[in-house]
Amino acid sequence: MMLHDIIIIGAGPAGSRIAQRLSQLGYSVVVVDKNLRPGDDVCCTGILSQECLGAFGLDNGLVLRQASSAKFLSPSGEYLRLCRQSPVAAIVDRSRLNMHLAKTAEASGARYLFGARVSDILLKPDGVEVIVNGQSEERVLRAKAAVISTGFGSALPAKLGLGEIKQFVFGAQVQVSINGIDEVEVYFDQKLTPGGFAWLVPTTDGRGLVGLLTRGQADSSLENLLEVLSSQGKIASSQAAPSYDVVPLKPLPRTYADRVLVVGEAAGQVKPTTGGGVYYGLLCADIAAGVLQQAFEADDFSAHVLSAYEDRWRAKLNRELVIGYWARTLLAKLSNDKIDRLFRLAGKKGLPELISDGNGFSFDWHGWLLLKMAGSILPF
Ligand SMILES: Cc1cc2nc3c(=O)[nH]c(=O)nc-3n(C[C@H](O)[C@H](O)[C@H](O)COP(=O)(O)OP(=O)(O)OC[C@H]3O[C@@H](n4cnc5c(N)ncnc54)[C@H](O)[C@@H]3O)c2cc1C
Repeated sequence: MMLHDIIIIGAGPAGSRIAQRLSQLGYSVVVVDKNLRPGDDVCCTGILSQECLGAFGLDNGLVLRQASSAKFLSPSGEYLRLCRQSPVAAIVDRSRLNMHLAKTAEASGARYLFGARVSDILLKPDGVEVIVNGQSEERVLRAKAAVISTGFGSALPAKLGLGEIKQFVFGAQVQVSINGIDEVEVYFDQKLTPGGFAWLVPTTDGRGLVGLLTRGQADSSLENLLEVLSSQGKIASSQAAPSYDVVPLKPLPRTYADRVLVVGEAAGQVKPTTGGGVYYGLLCADIAAGVLQQAFEADDFSAHVLSAYEDRWRAKLNRELVIGYWARTLLAKLSNDKIDRLFRLAGKKGLPELISDGNGFSFDWHGWLLLKMAGSILPF
């Protein structure tokens, strides 16, 4: 007997968005998550563009702070300040965002099972069987199709023959007390964060988030960064235990199989430039929901039908992912001296003004700007 129409594995933003879209259409949806509550255990700064907040109707109540400027610092402390008249982004409470999206999906009829880790997906001629390890028992859930929206690092896509993402960076973040810092600061230093960058993001009530992405050791990089920021008097103390995660820099080789789609960070739908994945994940969740709706209507969940998902999301994101990955790889190869020179050149060429004036700059779509920079300041 078919118990559900669809099983969604992972109650992050991507999974809950699909759950909401499909349950709204009347399909029976169950979302399974290994955590005990939505929003537990997140490692994310929660910076989202105004474009993302508007497109997905995300409540102002989730916003901790608006952001209209940021200061980018080179290894020697030179800086470029980007500033817009109105906010381009907001810092949202990421745990509450997960709760909000899960509640919205539940209100549309989706069911959530927490404390339930999925260990396998078995493809059957008439559906899928999802093996769920609860706190005390193993159970099997059955549905017509499944979505893998587990974030990065799940073994499920590889088990289904969809390949693996081999390019990634390590991330770390901790909440801190801050001293007089009023705008986002972004630090580039190959010694501190090899192949990556770090940030200090003020949130509310004298608090902020210190985080980083690196190809090196995230824990020791974070310790060193906290020491530096503390010696500069920017932070007073760290307030909680750090959290760690891994961010993919390239997409999964294939994001569909018979009866299965992979969505969000699990599919590598992340900006390789910044590691931001919430907006691209939500956009791809909507594409996935549309393709699944067509599969339900045709009662055909073959890989052939579901391949439309990959065609559509790649048509939307591929250019950005390719250019972004190229830019990130290039940056990773630069010495600190070269980064300093790049900052000076970018200042001389009026990059901050170019961005500050708008001119097509977007918080989420970096391809245009990266190509423009490549044309005007590289090679330097
Ligand atoms: C330090 C850091 C800072 C970041 N800052 C930003 C930012 O400012 N803005 C931004 O847009 N992005 C940011 N990101 C990236 C962002 O957090 C992710 O891209 C985003 O959370 C991906 O959403 P998702 O729904 O695909 O997966 P996730 O949010 O990772 O959700 C996946 C869910 O699946 C569950 N799960 C995993 N495996 C299983 C299993 N086997 N069985 C059951 N459940 C399972 C997990 O418990 C989790 O709840 C940051 C990342 C890092 C590391």
